[in-house]
Amino acid sequence: LIKLIDVNKSFKDYKVLKNINLSINKGETLAIIGASGSGKSTLLKLMIGLERPSSGQVWIKNEDIAKLNEEELDKVRLNMGMVFQYSALFDSMTVADNVAFGLREHSSLTEAEIGHIVEEKLNTVGLKDFANYMPNELSGGMKKRVSLARAIAFEPEIILYDEPTSGLDPVMAGKIDKLIKYTQEKMHVTSVVVTHDMDSAYYIADRIAMIYEGEIIALEDAHAIKTSSDKRVQEFINGGR
Ligand code: ATP
Ligand code: MG
Repeated sequence: LIKLIDVNKSFKDYKVLKNINLSINKGETLAIIGASGSGKSTLLKLMIGLERPSSGQVWIKNEDIAKLNEEELDKVRLNMGMVFQYSALFDSMTVADNVAFGLREHSSLTEAEIGHIVEEKLNTVGLKDFANYMPNELSGGMKKRVSLARAIAFEPEIILYDEPTSGLDPVMAGKIDKLIKYTQEKMHVTSVVVTHDMDSAYYIADRIAMIYEGEIIALEDAHAIKTSSDKRVQEFINGGR
């Protein structure tokens, strides 16, 4: 469903991603782990066309999105949701308006239909009583859940998550993980989840890829990575302990 072929990405002279080859199957969840600055967020942004590769191909279904213009990209994005590392909600809009935003911009649904979807999605993420709150009245975990409600509003086939559980307590992180599982099991979403949290990676992922200084150095079934012989992988997953 998602396929990156020989992808390189540089910012000026700095090579952030080197020769990335990666295929993600329909219905699969891939977790991406790696140190801060290793290129994880950049890799996710490439998958949804927020960054373009310096070279290589980024296939989403049957289109190489590296070649598309903005208008064509928008069409592909209708089938994708993204939960950003820093929630990226509109601070001046209520929770409900944040969730409705994309539907108002990119669908021909009526306000009543949109209202119905917003209610349903807020209910899914456990925030039905917070529709009229402003983002700054919510905790970090609640903001992440609003982002998730917004990402699922279009019932996308693909969702990209950038550190959905970072900065959250274990209970809230567990709730987010369960919601991710829900999108897999009930909505059959294909997902890519960038995370530092190994417990979360083992729980939600089918496979885990590790990026090290812009290269994929391991790509294995979720639990198999525990026994990887690569020192860099061991150091990351055990935190050097
Ligand atoms: P973290 O775990 O801290 O979120 P990350 O693995 O997501 O890190 P990226 O955000 O992908 O890392 O950044 C990788 C490298 O690319 C960093 O050195 C960063 O400074 C650089 N970088 C990212 N975006 C840009 C940009 N728009 N312009 C220039 N450099 C950038
Ligand atoms: Mg990042």
